[in-house]
Amino acid sequence: MKQKIFATGLIAIGVVLVQACAPNPYAKTNRDYKKQAKEYAKLLREYPVLDSAGLQFRASWVGTTNFSMRRPNYVVIHHTAQNSCEQTLKTFTLPRAQVSSHYVICKDGTVHHMLNDLLRGHHAGVSKWGNATDINSSSIGIEIDNNGFEPFTDEQINSLLIVLDRLKKAYNIPIANFIGHADIAPGRKVDPNRNFPWQKLSEQGYGYWYDTTNVQVDSAFNAMYALRIIGYDIKKDTNAIQSFKLHFVQNDSSKVITDSDKKILMDLVKKYQ
Ligand SMILES: [Zn+2]
Repeated sequence: MKQKIFATGLIAIGVVLVQACAPNPYAKTNRDYKKQAKEYAKLLREYPVLDSAGLQFRASWVGTTNFSMRRPNYVVIHHTAQNSCEQTLKTFTLPRAQVSSHYVICKDGTVHHMLNDLLRGHHAGVSKWGNATDINSSSIGIEIDNNGFEPFTDEQINSLLIVLDRLKKAYNIPIANFIGHADIAPGRKVDPNRNFPWQKLSEQGYGYWYDTTNVQVDSAFNAMYALRIIGYDIKKDTNAIQSFKLHFVQNDSSKVITDSDKKILMDLVKKYQ
């Protein structure tokens, strides 16, 4: 019996040792990250560089002493539409995939920070919000592990709120600028899915919500203009309406504006304009 316990003990120690010595599957891509970041750091030091607008004025270059890094002004929330966090980490460390986000939040609430907040992620793609395009240049991307149809876990939302709190404070991001991928890419993207708790987020100060008590819709009210004021790209009405409903009227998958939607929009416009 004693021998058996001893043997089991040895196996257990062996397992711990193997785990401790197991190579980090991302050791190589972590090195690639550092290398790439170093290249950009070099670019920052050597300004003006060959492709900069200031090149033709190089001879008269005078570096100011007063500057800082550009800061993100939007937070864009996504669902991964993949089957596991592991799958997403693999995709985001595969150069040919050309996609990434600053944060990935797994079902158990684990947060993987994958990119310095001050660097540009590849998460938004072709997108527009108000008159802002190239949202990648001005935003933080947060991907939540979700196959696209399931609810989000409490652990994910709790972790998300911790990340959002830090981002809002660190970069002074306005309440209105916490948005979803579908909001900035109507007709192209539908994430995060309709289970996402936007109302709960707005109660904590991330994004606006509405209160339609006592809202009277006047006859001249134009719902599409209202969507445009909020930020939606209204090039195609039905796409804009679909994205709006995914965020604000989650139990309605139609692409038509109802009277109750008009009330919601009237109240929202006051907050966004
Ligand atoms: Zn997305």
